[in-house]
Amino acid sequence: MLQLWNTLSGKKEDFVPMDKRMVRIYTCGPTVYDFAHIGNLRTYIFEDVLRRTLKYSGYKVRQVMNITDIDDKIIKRANLEKKDIREITAPYTTAFKADMRKLNIEKPEVMPKATAHIKDMISLIQEILESDLAYKGEDGSVYFNISLFKDYGKLSKIDHKNLKTGARVDADEYEKDDARDFVLWKSRKPNEPFWKSPFGPGRPGWHIECSAMSMKYLGPSFDIHTGAVDNIFPHHENEIAQSEVATGKPLSRFWIHAEHLLVDGKKMAKSAGNFYTLRDIEKKGYSPIVFRYLVLTTHYRSKLNFSWDSLESAKNGLDNLIGEIERILSSARDSKGRYNNENTTLVKYENKFRDCLEDDLGTPGCLAVLWEIVKDRELPSANKIKLIRKLDKVLGLGLSQIKTGRIPKKVEILLKKREKARLDKDFRLADTLRERIEESGYKIEDTAEGPAAMKIKNE
Ligand code: AMP
Ligand code: ZN
Repeated sequence: MLQLWNTLSGKKEDFVPMDKRMVRIYTCGPTVYDFAHIGNLRTYIFEDVLRRTLKYSGYKVRQVMNITDIDDKIIKRANLEKKDIREITAPYTTAFKADMRKLNIEKPEVMPKATAHIKDMISLIQEILESDLAYKGEDGSVYFNISLFKDYGKLSKIDHKNLKTGARVDADEYEKDDARDFVLWKSRKPNEPFWKSPFGPGRPGWHIECSAMSMKYLGPSFDIHTGAVDNIFPHHENEIAQSEVATGKPLSRFWIHAEHLLVDGKKMAKSAGNFYTLRDIEKKGYSPIVFRYLVLTTHYRSKLNFSWDSLESAKNGLDNLIGEIERILSSARDSKGRYNNENTTLVKYENKFRDCLEDDLGTPGCLAVLWEIVKDRELPSANKIKLIRKLDKVLGLGLSQIKTGRIPKKVEILLKKREKARLDKDFRLADTLRERIEESGYKIEDTAEGPAAMKIKNE
């Protein structure tokens, strides 16, 4: 049974979707005013593992990931560069999708853009106004009155004593101990894009964007809402307030949050200037999948301190794994069709992998199981390969694409001759043949299929 940590209840819970076969997930997507940094990408990798896990468990998945293409940060950047916001958001949206592909992050079913859903946001604000939990300020903006929503703070466990009744905040981001009435619609300001609305010209606040897009594509209630821990307050708390006031239904049953990626012990953030992008990683000669491997070595609810040394270790780990798989592939030459699902070792490994995964996506344990499989001397190579390919559907490390390090014909013949010499008890000839195999860059290892030539690792 899949168990996931739910921020809302503060505990690990059995996961059962509302609809038996289909899981509906909403994922807060990127704000496209710059390249995503690798902290953001850590969160998207976790969300991808979650998605793949659900599919591995037999569910269909409908995942919505928005593209925030209008907000304070975008406007600021556009004004700075004297550009139209689309000239900023279009290339960074393309760059983000390229990052996803490079990291083997599966494409969500829907990737709606905020600017294409202004009407939906306006209708939602109208519904909230009708419920009397929103009001228009003298500045023309529309605000949500948090003191009238009794559940306010249920996600972030806010202390209600800190609520500043009547005080307002226009900024999209602020701290938990500064909770105030937040903005749903920001009235038009000079040098800002605006849309017409019944409450006057202006633009949506960031929080209403996600409420409108999630409910449009997933309905008033869905199974899982994800993000990183910084999204809990105020973003997700405000999404809950707005949506639940409008519909009277719980927005999402599970709220799942990834911990941050840190640099030198501090949260990686654009504003702190301590960030790297996937391009920086590639420039240093690392494949993006090395970063994915690094992310999987840490549980998603633990902080991950990024350093180039840790990336280098991840590279060594992944290179070794790929090397082992190449060697397994080359020794699987004579075992075609021997794959057997009833093999108890296979079942044992698959169960072990599943146990790690179902315990709140324990990817470090999953990697350990993968290594156990690779190192198992008893398990036939063909079985190993099938199993690795199956498990990699969840891990997404591209292990299925590894091509066999085919043994050269010459080595194959030497190996056969050596086996014959051994059977004939001509040990001197057998030794000479072994040396010739080693000179060709291969060594003989015992496998479940008998002696096999394995490529010598370049250390
Ligand atoms: P943004 O583009 O700023 O809206 O952020 C995109 C996603 O990345 C959000 O889910 C954030 O919570 C998440 N995020 C931001 N900083 C970090 C970080 N240092 N580590 C992990 N996730 C982060
Ligand atoms: Zn969001």
